[in-house]
Amino acid sequence: MTTAIDLRSDTVTRPSPAMREAMAAAPVGDDQYGEDPSVNLLQERIAGLLGKEAALFVPSGTMANQIGLKILTRPGDEVVLGHEAHIVWHEAGAGAANSGVQFAPVGRGGLFTAADLRAAYKPKGHIVFPPTTLVALENTHNRGGGVIFPQAEAVAICAAARALGMASYLDGARLFNAAVALGKSLAELAAPFDLVSVALSKGLGCPVGSVLAGSRELIAHAHRARRMFGGAMRQAGILAAAGLYALDHNVARLAEDHANARQIGERLAAVPGVELDLGTVQTNIVIFHLAAQMPDAAAIVAAAAEKGVLVSAFAARTVRAVTHLDVSDEQCRRAGGLLAAVIAAARKPGR
Ligand SMILES: *Cc1c(COP(=O)(O)O)cnc(C)c1O
Repeated sequence: MTTAIDLRSDTVTRPSPAMREAMAAAPVGDDQYGEDPSVNLLQERIAGLLGKEAALFVPSGTMANQIGLKILTRPGDEVVLGHEAHIVWHEAGAGAANSGVQFAPVGRGGLFTAADLRAAYKPKGHIVFPPTTLVALENTHNRGGGVIFPQAEAVAICAAARALGMASYLDGARLFNAAVALGKSLAELAAPFDLVSVALSKGLGCPVGSVLAGSRELIAHAHRARRMFGGAMRQAGILAAAGLYALDHNVARLAEDHANARQIGERLAAVPGVELDLGTVQTNIVIFHLAAQMPDAAAIVAAAAEKGVLVSAFAARTVRAVTHLDVSDEQCRRAGGLLAAVIAAARKPGR
């Protein structure tokens, strides 16, 4: 069999030969002395792109989120966020373990409104309430199917948060996808927020890394938290160089990933037994649910793997496919057809 078409995640990409060359050639130094020129340049460039004063390179998106929770809350605080946020579902319980916070998910499909925030808000100094001190948005929203957070609502939410004395955080692991899909700048999307993270290891195709950006003061706090969490590195310029390469070569092409996801989504939405809201297929993620008469997600994922298409069982009856720079439009067309055939064959007869 030919090699599988791997749509499990946009994290499966491997650094290209040109990216590896850039990594091998990177000037480096000890980043904990602030002496790694490649890390410093990456941080400056991302801070500039996001319109923030300063930025900090960290090993993963999870660490970026955990540093955000650590420096923007105190133990016992409550964090308002969208349903099925990465922070709640995919970080191994770290928010509770590291920062002692509890979560109040609001809204639907990863999106929510300023009214939802106000309704969930619990004031400081109350005798029984946990104080709501942070609101966290995710753009694009992973478990919501790669949906883009409506910018006007993000602006309203952050304004409401500020008026209530709360901080705001943006998990922008896929903010580059949102920016390309909307044709808006990263700075515009990041502007309402106190602290923002972006990932290099998702659609940008780097092997490692995320970057946090915010005010000089917040990034100084983040610096200490990164050290506390064991994420301070030394000659990390080898990794940062991949990020610099990706900023120059892998951003505009995200539009191809979006077109490929759209093509897969349209193919699958027409298949009986598939519940797929094409309105959610806005970027590089396709999430669909299996109707009651269908086998569960694990069975469909296993059957697809036998045909050479790798996708993820995201919940009992939910499947996710993600497009990225290591799959071509031809491969995505083939994957859509193979998935459709697998699902049609798995449908129980007579229904
Ligand atoms: C992948 C992802 C992260 C975490 O990134 P890792 O580098 O895998 O830790 C955070 N937030 C969102 C929305 C993600 O999709």
